Amino acid sequence: MRRKLIAGNWKMNLSANEARAVIAALRAQIDPVAAQLAKDRELLIAPTTLAIGAVGQALAGSSIALGAQNMHWEDSGAFTGEVSAPMLKAFGVTHVIIGHSERRHVFFETDEFVNRKVATALKHRMVPIMCVGETLAEREASRTLEVVMRQLENGLSNIPAEAAGTVVIAYEPVWAIGTGKTATPEQAQLVHGSIREFLDDSWGKSAAAETRILYGGSVTPDNIDSLLAKPDIDGALVGGASLKADSFARIIRARLK
Ligand code: PEP
Repeated sequence: MRRKLIAGNWKMNLSANEARAVIAALRAQIDPVAAQLAKDRELLIAPTTLAIGAVGQALAGSSIALGAQNMHWEDSGAFTGEVSAPMLKAFGVTHVIIGHSERRHVFFETDEFVNRKVATALKHRMVPIMCVGETLAEREASRTLEVVMRQLENGLSNIPAEAAGTVVIAYEPVWAIGTGKTATPEQAQLVHGSIREFLDDSWGKSAAAETRILYGGSVTPDNIDSLLAKPDIDGALVGGASLKADSFARIIRARLK
């Protein structure tokens, strides 16, 4: 009942020209199976902000949606270096990644910022992909669930159950991002199951069952099948492996019926 979402987070990689070339190569592999893919999954690419215009044009007529990696919660104002939801929407952006661990740990974004951004995305009818996940030290101290639940509770504060069909959660253990270390499907499922229980407690069973929970952290063509086989893993947020058309196309086609 939940449609999978396979999303590429390009981070601060690929200029507009490089992005066009990757998308052309990706579309050559994906467009012929678009109808088959559309049966059970959605696709997304979140390029660097400066490439959003070029990527939007390159994706025209494809089944791949356009995402942003971050945004501010205000529509305009004195916020040097930021972009707003209306500005992104004007370029056809439909999804926005919020609270990625690099935003939290490198740019010190707080749960409160994350919450404001999730609310803003919903207000503007965009899909927020809210990232949560523990550091290695937190995992080793057996604090994984405590940290993830705190991030969920604060990040989704005052977000109503009606948002369930729109909000996407991405579980991304910080120790697995860009490190080549993936959580095992069992480790990921355990956290995803707990996230679903949290959503059930806060929003009720049907809203929890509707919400998509993605896994992110060194997803590759070799591990995507076993991750997607788990009942509470509804897709993937892919960094490094989404930068190359071949590997991203293989991930996109995983478990295609
Ligand atoms: C990410 O950017 O969200 C990510 C999971 O990166 P990687 O796949 O490279 O670990």
